[in-house]
Amino acid sequence: MAIIKQLAKFAKKMLPAKSVSAVAEVLPEPIKIPRSKHPISRNDISENALKVLYRLHKGGFEAYLVGGCVRDLLLGVVPKDFDVATNASPEQIRSLFRNCRLIGRRFRLAHIVYGRDIIEVATFRGHHSDESDSGQNISKQNEDGMLVRDNVYGTIEEDAQRRDFTINALYYSIADFAIYDFANGIADLEQGLVRLLGDPEQRYREDPVRMLRAVRFATKLGLRIEQKTEEPIKRLSGLLDNIPPARLFEEFLKLFLANRAQANFERLTELNLFQYLFPVLKAPLKQHDSLEYRIANQVFADTDQRLGIDKGVNPAYLFAALLWYPMSARADEIVQESGLPIYDAMQIAAADTLSRQSRSISIPKRFSIPMRDIWLLQLRLQQTHPRRALRLLSHPKFRAGYDFLLLRGKVENNKELIELGKFWTDYQKQNPNEVQATGTKPKSARRPRKRGPNRRKSGPSAGGSTGNNG
Ligand code: ATP
Ligand code: MG
Repeated sequence: MAIIKQLAKFAKKMLPAKSVSAVAEVLPEPIKIPRSKHPISRNDISENALKVLYRLHKGGFEAYLVGGCVRDLLLGVVPKDFDVATNASPEQIRSLFRNCRLIGRRFRLAHIVYGRDIIEVATFRGHHSDESDSGQNISKQNEDGMLVRDNVYGTIEEDAQRRDFTINALYYSIADFAIYDFANGIADLEQGLVRLLGDPEQRYREDPVRMLRAVRFATKLGLRIEQKTEEPIKRLSGLLDNIPPARLFEEFLKLFLANRAQANFERLTELNLFQYLFPVLKAPLKQHDSLEYRIANQVFADTDQRLGIDKGVNPAYLFAALLWYPMSARADEIVQESGLPIYDAMQIAAADTLSRQSRSISIPKRFSIPMRDIWLLQLRLQQTHPRRALRLLSHPKFRAGYDFLLLRGKVENNKELIELGKFWTDYQKQNPNEVQATGTKPKSARRPRKRGPNRRKSGPSAGGSTGNNG
């Protein structure tokens, strides 16, 4: 932090004379921090990102690292990914790189592919004026003011203005290795503030996911959300309803599978945001003694703890926990109404709950299927007859189902469940060779992973293991 303090002091000296207005705005000219004054070394930057930067530079284009990676490097945090911004158009980028794929509709981007590592390269984004609307250079808003297409190319100043937070409007140039701070982001880093650029309400309306991002950056980096940035959130949280469920799934992974799950849960409930991710849970989340709240809080605490010791966490397990109580209440209802056996009722309730949930966050099949397994195992784990029990140990999801049983016992403080949990703990000890190691197939039998074009953005565990690995 001493470095940030020094940097902020230097940045303040270099601040352009014109004063800053009430809302955070891009400065009339960026603050330049030369290489000798900042700590970012090329050794901290991924080799592939450097390759991309150099090739663009040699091709006669401007090339910068931008956003989160610059922010994180300044804070001494290892960046999750390296993003590049350039004045080259997507077509020009493509002509420079054989391993380039153009993607995206909302923002047209180039992905430079190095095996599993992907460097995202974006052309500077510009303003949205009607006269510039022609051909591919277009932007579009829906009735709520939300940007549904945003392919207007512009200058670096305009690009900086289109960034979300001041701390994300930092650029590292490959031409002179200097950092360019376009919106006083370094001062905000020093003060520990997440501050939106521009008018907060308008920026949230353009893209409501920024509300989730504000929370995520605050918890991840130990910052506070600046007051004007925080103020509209409760009021506008309902705008999350308009976000495509697949995008919210990606945000879910970033919020809850990257170390600060419990803190994010707490902040998101406080700011009325969590309820739009999980409308199935509704009001009970405000009551801290409700089972819904307690299991959510517990599973997020466990997640943080597991990630802290480098153990895997599976989204399927998280979803199973979050949706368990509404699902089992529904199953009980079905039994009452129809007299169906509980196993069948649970199948129906599971499908029902999933379909309601998928209107806000869509859960890909590779997670929803094991999630159901975990649920149904809760019934099968009640059967402790030796022959059946032995067979159950080799169920691919046994370990996750068992962990989940323990979780329920703890959350409900229910003697019977706790006893049952103990039975299975002992039973595994007595039959160590029967338990499937991590709830997955043996390595040799595993098929190679199939990954989509957005793999780099798909978060920590998205393509990962299918069990809540022990
Ligand atoms: P992290 O990678 O740790 O999640 P990040 O800030 O790098 O954080 P990315 O999603 O990788 O986040 O985005 C890279 C950069 O793109 C951001 O720093 C920001 O400048 C810009 N950006 C991303 N999403 C938005 C958005 N919704 N609105 C405006 N700018 C955005
Ligand atoms: Mg990033």
